[in-house]
Amino acid sequence: MRNSVLYTIEKGELDKLIGILHRDGYTVVGPTVRDGAIGYEAIESVQQLPIGWTDEQAPGHYRLKRRDDDLYFGHVVGPQSIKKFFFPPKQRLFGIRREGENDYVFEATQPEPPRYAFVGVRACDLAAVRVQDRVFNDVMPDPYYAKARSQAVFIGVNCAEPGGTCFCTSMDTGPRCTQGFDIALTELKSTFTVEVGSDKGRKLLEALEHKTTDANTKHLVDLMMQSAAEHMGRSLNTDGLPEMLLNNLQHPHWDEVAKRCMDCANCTLSCPTCFCSNVEDKTDLTGDHAERWRTWGSCFTLEFSYHTGGYNRSSTAARYRQWLTHKLASWHEQFGTSGCVGCGRCITWCPVGIDITKEANAITDDVKRFRAEQERQRAEEVGS
Ligand code: SF4
Ligand code: SF4
Repeated sequence: MRNSVLYTIEKGELDKLIGILHRDGYTVVGPTVRDGAIGYEAIESVQQLPIGWTDEQAPGHYRLKRRDDDLYFGHVVGPQSIKKFFFPPKQRLFGIRREGENDYVFEATQPEPPRYAFVGVRACDLAAVRVQDRVFNDVMPDPYYAKARSQAVFIGVNCAEPGGTCFCTSMDTGPRCTQGFDIALTELKSTFTVEVGSDKGRKLLEALEHKTTDANTKHLVDLMMQSAAEHMGRSLNTDGLPEMLLNNLQHPHWDEVAKRCMDCANCTLSCPTCFCSNVEDKTDLTGDHAERWRTWGSCFTLEFSYHTGGYNRSSTAARYRQWLTHKLASWHEQFGTSGCVGCGRCITWCPVGIDITKEANAITDDVKRFRAEQERQRAEEVGS
């Protein structure tokens, strides 16, 4: 149970909030239905939210379905997180122009990021932003990321109905928004409860008609969160997991997964925490102009592991193992946190339904069985 003060607003106030954010110069981004899925896009009003829609998710499966109510946020996460707004999939880093025979002008052309206000961000995606901060902001800040991040507003939404591939409870990142938001909403039938997470959030709340939430409604919100936590579509046993994985790099299960994996990179591209990129230099035919571009990369491509002399991850098994052990094990050493927030996207959007929870649990369970058998044999030997 969370002891923070909750406020209640009527549903109509959300449109007012979006209007205030627009008026204050923000580009408001929220979930919306597009191309058969729910994604984060710029929105003008609540009418663009996926009102009355839900998403059915399972390994390798995603379908939008009509709900029998008009909830604004009756869905979970779509194929893309808000990562693309801080770390764009394709971005020009700089250009160089020739002026005269041997004179070159350097153009630092990373654009100024818009001031984003994100509406309807789930707890797992808020946690993913904090994970990405370790990479892009904490040690050597990426200028675009740092600026976009520092001026952003986050309106979180607590999840009452987790999806079939969600496991945020296992990763301790949800279903309730606990940090990283300015305001966190819980959607009820005709109202939202509001939790304030920052001074920015308090100012926004003060611009809306609100009242303190009564004790019964507060209790109801707690029950909704408890029920959501108990109904995750997936679970992952994280107890001792980093050591377990790193001590079993030769486990036969890596080859078993590789038989199914297509190296398509969907898992990395849909993941809200994956941060690898490629850098390409391009010149035009005149030779007077060159540009450097950064594009999202993926450890699932063969080229990504190229070093002088060849590829150091030349098999699919090696690439899958690299991805999974980085997410769930070596990320802890590198960044002091798991690289997985339990959003389930890599499971839903894997065309063959490879499931990070199932694959990691398979290795953990097998190693535990093996150890138990060793223990049993030792006990027998001592007893005989
Ligand atoms: S590894 Fe999968 S479940 Fe974990 S954060 Fe990335 S996409 Fe989500
Ligand atoms: S695990 Fe699935 S999504 Fe990832 S590369 Fe393999 S087939 Fe593609």
